[in-house]
Amino acid sequence: MKITRIETFGLEAPLPTPFGWSQAWVTRRRAVLVRVETDDDMEGWGEIYCQAPPVIYTAIVAELLAPHFLGADPWDRDVLWQAAYNATIDAGQRGFVVGALSALDSALWDIVGKACGQPVHRLLGGLARAHVRAYATGLYRQPGDDWIAALPAEAVGYVERGFRVVKMKVGFGIPLDVAAVRAVREAIGPDITLAVDANHAYKPVQAIELGRRIAPYDIAWFEEPVSPEDIAGYCEVRARQPIPVAGGELAYTRFGFRDLLERRAVDILQPDLCLCGGLTEGRAIADLARTWNVRCWAHVWGTGIAQATAMHFLGWMPTKSAYTDVDPLLVEWDNTPNPLRDQIVLNPPVYAAGSVAVPTDPGLGVTIDRAAVARFQTAHSLAGGKS
Ligand code: CA
Repeated sequence: MKITRIETFGLEAPLPTPFGWSQAWVTRRRAVLVRVETDDDMEGWGEIYCQAPPVIYTAIVAELLAPHFLGADPWDRDVLWQAAYNATIDAGQRGFVVGALSALDSALWDIVGKACGQPVHRLLGGLARAHVRAYATGLYRQPGDDWIAALPAEAVGYVERGFRVVKMKVGFGIPLDVAAVRAVREAIGPDITLAVDANHAYKPVQAIELGRRIAPYDIAWFEEPVSPEDIAGYCEVRARQPIPVAGGELAYTRFGFRDLLERRAVDILQPDLCLCGGLTEGRAIADLARTWNVRCWAHVWGTGIAQATAMHFLGWMPTKSAYTDVDPLLVEWDNTPNPLRDQIVLNPPVYAAGSVAVPTDPGLGVTIDRAAVARFQTAHSLAGGKS
């Protein structure tokens, strides 16, 4: 089996109403999908966690990375990952290059799974759990001045849909954050787990103050309190306020996660499989997390391909028995508007009653709606021969 063709699709979908987090308003959703084809007509799909104009990623896949994969055997995943990483290290190591490499890598897992009729979690090493508990990501800022008043009804809506864990946005200034957290906690009552996410809005001194002020509202974790490169700041926040600290959605490869772990900067690692280096590197990151005895969940912000990739990862991930029930793994479940997430995959993983089932079909177990891909396509690249 040889890789003959690598095609990359940049997708965009405008939103009728924007929603806000601490750094920006989201006015459209973006995704970049990579399709890898082989000489025996197998195909695999991977997704890049898209944070910039898609045309940047389509060029990186076709011009920079594809030459290292064309003509190769998809079974050689580790070998190809390392060769592509080595060849691009002067311009890569993180960012666009590793994001693009993530999708290529996961597409190979998809192909190999289909080739041998096995779901990706079995290739990773088995199924530790058939369902993964999901937490609701939502509670963003809405346009207008009375957005805090709208949070309680949204939060209660998640609880009514079965979520036992809910995450809300902070990072809008400490007084607003405290008022928003109080409103949500009062609405959902004491039995629902509540977490906050600042998206690196704060300096350590501010994050410490916020953590101390919202800790009485029983906050399960404080996500991205400070800038991702400020590991010393993470350590300060972790040491000087009582809420467990989460981070890592913007960390890359085992080396980035090693640094977070060695410094004991976080209580929860949150690799994004569509950014951190793909399933090949994600497996190494999970092994590091187990070595350092730190929780490792998955950040998910994409289409059904990203969701399926995370579900195989979390379905496989071996954990120490002491926390399988006491401290379960969680998958992030995005409830914000995203036409790409809702339309690109015909059979995405489905949330029901507080958890999501791990896909069981061969490969990633997702079927792509090519008409939907065409409908949202704003950038495209092709490397290799004809389909
Ligand atoms: Ca986050």
